[in-house]
Amino acid sequence: MKEIILVKNGELALKGLNRASFEARLRRNIKHRLSPLGEVNIRSAQSAIFIEPTGEEYDCGKAVKRLQTVFGIAGITRAAVCEKNMQVIMPLAAEYLETMLKEAKTFKVEGKRSDKGFPLKSPEICAELGGYLLKCFPHLTVDVRRPDIQVTVEIRDFGAYIHAAQLPGAGGMPCGTAGRAAVLLSGGIDSPVAAYMMAKRGIELVAVHFASPPFTSLRAELKVCELLSKIAAYTGPAALFTVPFTEIQQAVEKHCREDYGTVINRRLMMRIAEKVAREQNASALVTGESVGQVASQTMHALICTDAAADMPVFRPLIGMDKEEIIKISRTIGTFDISVLPYEDCCTVFTPKHPRTKPRLADVLREEEKLSCEALIQKAFSTTDKKIITEDFLYYEG
Ligand code: ATP
Ligand code: MG
Repeated sequence: MKEIILVKNGELALKGLNRASFEARLRRNIKHRLSPLGEVNIRSAQSAIFIEPTGEEYDCGKAVKRLQTVFGIAGITRAAVCEKNMQVIMPLAAEYLETMLKEAKTFKVEGKRSDKGFPLKSPEICAELGGYLLKCFPHLTVDVRRPDIQVTVEIRDFGAYIHAAQLPGAGGMPCGTAGRAAVLLSGGIDSPVAAYMMAKRGIELVAVHFASPPFTSLRAELKVCELLSKIAAYTGPAALFTVPFTEIQQAVEKHCREDYGTVINRRLMMRIAEKVAREQNASALVTGESVGQVASQTMHALICTDAAADMPVFRPLIGMDKEEIIKISRTIGTFDISVLPYEDCCTVFTPKHPRTKPRLADVLREEEKLSCEALIQKAFSTTDKKIITEDFLYYEG
């Protein structure tokens, strides 16, 4: 039996003149995502993508799992393919969907005929196949409103396709169709979720992490690699830039007012991240901030942080509650990693009473006590780069 995978395009189906290039990008992303499983032919037709394995023994189950992390896909269906002949379609439908039909109590047949040359109209396809399946599985009854299983037969130009359940896709827009941004990735819960959300809208990401050795450990850095590997399952391999931040934090602690420490550190992070972004042809920054979550994320503090960046700063979590963020982090598999108890540079140098309503003029005055440019340049020039793939594994020794 020949089986293929039908992918239903998501929102990109609506994209007018950009549609062809978006679809081409989605096909490329799909090809890349499926490459470890063997050769497939991929083609677009009627706001769907057809994936046809070229060899025998292709693992369609594994392919579907991998496709569920490709953005730009609304739904995924495995389908049996045969010639456009009811005498072939009917027994194949019974055989292909046997397990599901045995388990179901009620069913419904849906016929779709886009090849108008096919002699039966859609209602006739339904009636014939429905009758046939009732004979094969006498325990079944028809329920057109809420059937346990819907058997769909599509008569298309290239053949007949038989399928049942459609699985949900990841939604969003194909990665790489919306420009590139640099995400400030800490080891916490929020920033990986922020990265996921922007990637879902088609943005390609590079990640920037600030580490403060020896106050933060190698394990904390590996944790960030592992977090990024979960995002890489959606985006493909991603670059991680690790910036040594100790010297800056020590200088801020030594020279600036303690209650302004947090906001100044964050401003310096922004400026360094922006340098990395420019070097990597990225045109925006992404953070996991949410209004009011901590002292550095009050509206006043965010205004001061924003003023340090010349690029737009995207904050996809800005209006979300922690519980909502946690829910997403669980579904993308980052939560369990994020809660591992390794220290972050921000927790190491947290002032006891950070200012919740910092004034930009005061912040700038405090910053003048530092040689910001030199500090930024030094941290930037000693930044380490790694490429993280979804296979990144870290075993605690
Ligand atoms: P998260 O859960 O993402 O760590 P948080 O609630 O702990 O967020 P903060 O520590 O104030 O909040 O950080 C706010 C944002 O600043 C983070 O979401 C992240 O984008 C960025 N950030 C904080 N610390 C770092 C770091 N060490 N490296 C890179 N980015 C960081
Ligand atoms: Mg954090």
